[in-house]
Amino acid sequence: MFDLHPHQAQVIDALTQGLRQGHTRQLVALATGAGKTIVAAHLGHRASQKGKTMLFIVPTLELTTQAVETFARQGLRVGILRGEDTAYTRQDEVVVATVQSIRSRSAPDWMDFGIIDECHVLHQEHKRLMTDWHDRPFIGLSATPLTKGLGQIFTHLVRGPSIRELTEQKFLVPVRAFAPCADAVLKALADVSCGPTAAGYDYKEAELAAAMNAKGLIGDIVRTWEEKGEDRPTLCFATNVAHSQSIRDDFSAAGITAAHLDYRTEASERRDIVAGFKAGTIKLLTSVNVLGTGFNVPDAACLILARPTLSMALHIQQCGRGLRTAPGKDDCIILDHSGNCLKHGLPHHFTVPDLDLGDKPDPAKAKKRDKPLFVACRHCGAIMDPDEITCPRCGLDRPVRASRIVSRDGELVAFGSASPGSDDGTQEDPQTFYRMAMAYCLANGQKPGRAHYLTLARHPATRPPWSWRDLPPLTPTDAVARWIKNRNIFDRIRHQRSPGRPFPHHHGPDAPVSHMEPPTL
Ligand SMILES: [Zn+2]
Repeated sequence: MFDLHPHQAQVIDALTQGLRQGHTRQLVALATGAGKTIVAAHLGHRASQKGKTMLFIVPTLELTTQAVETFARQGLRVGILRGEDTAYTRQDEVVVATVQSIRSRSAPDWMDFGIIDECHVLHQEHKRLMTDWHDRPFIGLSATPLTKGLGQIFTHLVRGPSIRELTEQKFLVPVRAFAPCADAVLKALADVSCGPTAAGYDYKEAELAAAMNAKGLIGDIVRTWEEKGEDRPTLCFATNVAHSQSIRDDFSAAGITAAHLDYRTEASERRDIVAGFKAGTIKLLTSVNVLGTGFNVPDAACLILARPTLSMALHIQQCGRGLRTAPGKDDCIILDHSGNCLKHGLPHHFTVPDLDLGDKPDPAKAKKRDKPLFVACRHCGAIMDPDEITCPRCGLDRPVRASRIVSRDGELVAFGSASPGSDDGTQEDPQTFYRMAMAYCLANGQKPGRAHYLTLARHPATRPPWSWRDLPPLTPTDAVARWIKNRNIFDRIRHQRSPGRPFPHHHGPDAPVSHMEPPTL
């Protein structure tokens, strides 16, 4: 058998543990680059040693070939259940099946357990098979298990390493993200209506396409790429076919070789285009909806996001196309013309939440209403972390300094939710807030004293007793997390204006405070 990375071994251990506890429906959240198929191959090997056989179900024809090749490389005897190509025997250790084949012919009944690849999309056939094989274990695999109701089917979630951890361990490259026309895009999106779509609650496609097709926005895409794209092979995600074709035409007109793909493109033409892209003869590949079809989209070192979405899963899937390592690739440039990074954050901000039990409102609905959490630098367009006040790329201080802070009687006051003592009428009680603040501080490497200080700032009448330190931390609500982020910014700016004044319990003496003069625009 082959060596596993420590995080892969941990996933296997957690699955074994889960099965011992009686969980026969488990879901593994594994990000791009975490080695999903390696984990599956290991499970196949282990089962085989006990004389058992694994059924590996993939959503599309194209993914069958990839899975069969990977398993064969790992030394497994592999059979295929895929329409006319079907070929398997009882000697096979793994049978790779498309979900379509399970629909048309029943899966071989002597198989011992099933793995469902890309299980964030569960088909009726998956559910039927899980009912028929109610006494056999199933494991779902997904990088983005955010689908409503997944928690009703899978009872145990095993989290693999986060994108941030994989980046730190050099399994993925970091991103440099820019949203140079953020204001124009967010303005264009404000009037687009939303509703149920094939991909869940999202912008309505016709209206979205009309908004995004505005000539100004497309012109910006080419100009931004010329300025910031570093002539890298680039993948673009467009809103619809016409939008994608306009982008291709604009790049072509600027003398940049570009090609367009959608799900209707003939297989042979797809192969030629992808081959040209991989060979470097095509610089820009723009596409629509090809991720969901399982079409094997190549990886790139620069991504253009031009398809706004309220779906965190789609956003993470799109960004995932740029995160894999490759020789000579240090990072991935993301050019955000969709506002997605501002709404959802950058890939390394993503953490897998608990599985949805089907009883909560769709988070996509809040995404439409809520103000974006992230901002882009007004000077260079770089997307900044919520608690950064100085642009990491050009050193310009973020506009919050001017627009959100005023001086009143010599005291600084922040506008908005971070205003000291502000009460929006829906405040949690001080102890609950303290526990949330504690969780926030622990997650962000801040000392527990900061939670004490934050509680005093939010609930001036309550001095948190020492005993609260022993209470279990609580995951902050979105509103509380936002309040704390804003408060951190506020405190840091106040500290910057009066450097003599201590910055209360934040990062200690090494608080990342910049005294750099902002460059002139
Ligand atoms: Zn900047």
